[in-house]
Amino acid sequence: MDKGQKFSVWYFLIALIVAWLFAEYIYKPYTESKSEVPYSEFLTDLETLAIDNVDITESRIIYTLKDNTSPDKRPIVGGVILTNKKSRQQSNNVKSVVKLADPFLIMRLSSADVKFGGIAQRDSIMDLFMGILLPMLPLIIIWYLIFRNMRGGAGGGIFSFGKSRAKELQGEMTKTLFSDIGGAGEAEVELREIIDFLKDPKRFDKFGAKLPRGVLLVGPPGTGKTLLAKACAGEAGVPFFFITGSSFVEMFVGVGAARVRDLFDQAKKKAPCIIFVDEIDAIGQSRMRNFNSNSEQEATLNQLLAEMDGFEDNNGVVIMGATNRPEILDQALLRPGRFDRQIQVVLPTEEGREEILRIHTKKLPLSPEIDLRSIAKVTPGFSGADLANIANEASLLAARRKADKVSMNDFDLAIERVVAGLQRKTPLTPEVRKKVAYHETGHALVACYLPGSDPVHKVSIIPTTKGALGYTMQMPTEDNYIITEQELKTRMAVMLGGRAAELLVFDEPSTGASNDLERATETARRMVIEFGMSEKLGPVRYASSSMMYLGGSTEVRNDIGEGTAEVIDREIRRFVNEAQDSALNILKEHEKILHEVAKTLQEKEVINHEEIQAFVDKEKSQAENGSVDLMKATDNENIQAETEQVNENISQE
Ligand code: ATP
Repeated sequence: MDKGQKFSVWYFLIALIVAWLFAEYIYKPYTESKSEVPYSEFLTDLETLAIDNVDITESRIIYTLKDNTSPDKRPIVGGVILTNKKSRQQSNNVKSVVKLADPFLIMRLSSADVKFGGIAQRDSIMDLFMGILLPMLPLIIIWYLIFRNMRGGAGGGIFSFGKSRAKELQGEMTKTLFSDIGGAGEAEVELREIIDFLKDPKRFDKFGAKLPRGVLLVGPPGTGKTLLAKACAGEAGVPFFFITGSSFVEMFVGVGAARVRDLFDQAKKKAPCIIFVDEIDAIGQSRMRNFNSNSEQEATLNQLLAEMDGFEDNNGVVIMGATNRPEILDQALLRPGRFDRQIQVVLPTEEGREEILRIHTKKLPLSPEIDLRSIAKVTPGFSGADLANIANEASLLAARRKADKVSMNDFDLAIERVVAGLQRKTPLTPEVRKKVAYHETGHALVACYLPGSDPVHKVSIIPTTKGALGYTMQMPTEDNYIITEQELKTRMAVMLGGRAAELLVFDEPSTGASNDLERATETARRMVIEFGMSEKLGPVRYASSSMMYLGGSTEVRNDIGEGTAEVIDREIRRFVNEAQDSALNILKEHEKILHEVAKTLQEKEVINHEEIQAFVDKEKSQAENGSVDLMKATDNENIQAETEQVNENISQE
């Protein structure tokens, strides 16, 4: 719960307590002081001459008993309104009765010698005030304060509901520079122009040039989008306002919009400056697409659009947004004058990874054998954040070892930790170990024998905190910008290698392969509906929208016919089945080595690339020797046959 939410909870608690106090100590005694009695009792009191005076309202008769009938013998003048609170609490001298259509009422009152009069207005207004308005008063005051603040009115302190949460409302002065970012060459070039503008907005005015108001940084998580925006502010030496999209959206409609307004007001005062909205998709989601969109989100988005439109040209405020789902953004946000410039922030290349590692190991005592390039080589697909994490994990491991320097082995373990999670200490039963060993060996061997698959780095049957009972780690040898159909099929076969080994050795499948099946099915699904790799369906896209950075499940378009849907299902099944068959064939062909590796794995728990390769090489050389022996045998047979033939010929001659 953040600060603002805490405040709102406090408001309600205070309002409830005040309302309760009111009800308990003011309203209840007030109502209790006028004890309700039936009309018959009123008539009895009248007949026994016990009534002193009567006030008749439009709907009730309120009467006061004579002093001698009062339990505390205190005078009561003019009914409830004139009695003080204490006497009202202690007395039940004042009674109230619902007024009936009694034509003899005045006559009865006169004959009983009772003073009577009408107080219609006074009583009903008082009742209304005491009964309804007064208990609501605290609530009304609090709501008034809340909304006054949401409109950006004065206030602050605990009533700062509508204040934006941009970190450092004054705009943080950041020291981040481009030199703190690795592998961001292209993005940096594009951002240079913005920095020049921020440094001297007037220079651009002279030429009448209009600068983009909004820059959208698009890329997978952890690629340094926030860092880039910060570096822009750092390089230009201007304040940096940081806020996440999700923190705009609140439970009260209008709060998000007020925050946007407030943020822009603050920023304009500090111009030139940068406003950075992280996860802009939280507010900028397409209104067409977002069926759950609520009026709060829409109001916030509209306010953002309005503020961006309201910018005067070159007023010195640059708004930067970051998202990893550009496809779901509302088109209105991407129009000229808003986020009209998009900068792709991609996963780092090998060189970039080396630079990032260098930045994050700058302050670490590294042992001389460490080669950052070789670490960069084995970490394709890792983001800047992953690499920063690896450097940190490696230094933690070194600290735990109480070593002076971080070693290469620390880095190896750190990579594993980031990929597979921490090792868990729960031992597996021998049966489970055996199953896991065969399963993992299955993956590893299919990867070893299928051409084009990534080399196996390590196979382990030590359970990890990420929930795996074992894992096979493959390390891609290069950055894959484009993947062919055959490569995808190879990957699927490797994924299904575990299940294939189980089928081959134990003759029955287990639950251990559920994640593999999920990944293989998803790959097949994308091949069919997204990449047009099914011959039967042709190069047609059946996926509903591109989830390019999410890696989540791709959905089938909902406008396709039943027949097509059936073919899609069949094709997905065919791809998965073919991959499993291919894995099974490989393992059948190399069954002997499957048993050998699985046995070693059960003994050692972990085997690395070299050890697996040794098994494969041994099998290969045995096969070659075998074929040489076979050839030799055949040659011998041939020579023998030839000799016999020659001998025969000779004898015939
Ligand atoms: P998200 O989309 O999840 O918000 P992001 O793209 O904004 O992520 P950052 O928050 O900028 O990523 O990066 C997280 C951390 O990763 C940074 O604090 C930094 O330590 C590290 N990092 C990421 N990219 C780089 C890079 N190119 N150079 C150096 N460090 C980086």
